[in-house]
Amino acid sequence: MDVRNCKDCGRLFNYVSGPRLCGACRQKLEEKFGEVKEYIRDNPSASISQISEEMNVSTQQIRQWIREERLIFSEDSVVTIDCEKCGAQIRTGRYCEKCKSQMAHNLDSLYKKEQPVIQKTIRDRDRMRYLDKQQ
Ligand SMILES: [Zn+2]
Ligand SMILES: [Zn+2]
Repeated sequence: MDVRNCKDCGRLFNYVSGPRLCGACRQKLEEKFGEVKEYIRDNPSASISQISEEMNVSTQQIRQWIREERLIFSEDSVVTIDCEKCGAQIRTGRYCEKCKSQMAHNLDSLYKKEQPVIQKTIRDRDRMRYLDKQQ
């Protein structure tokens, strides 16, 4: 059992995973999230600091929701966050399109590099099967 202090109210609780919040605070945060989402729907041009002030929620928390892609803003919204890699202005997620495609490309070449190993394993297995048959 992993007992910790709630980040928000300081109460001890059984920690499982995710943000270090007790059940009550987690629920409170979810309710807040619903309110913020509604507020953004009604005020699509609101900035992060405006939302923070109006909804009494930290700008850090709003950015967190944007990074988790739970809050998504419309095309004409002024709200942007920084790409975690190059600092470009993005609307949602953690990276800009450029960094995303670059990372996808890196994954691709990684996969290609690993392929010969996989093929060799299959060949070895085939050879063993062949040897089995001969006996
Ligand atoms: Zn709490
Ligand atoms: Zn970037």
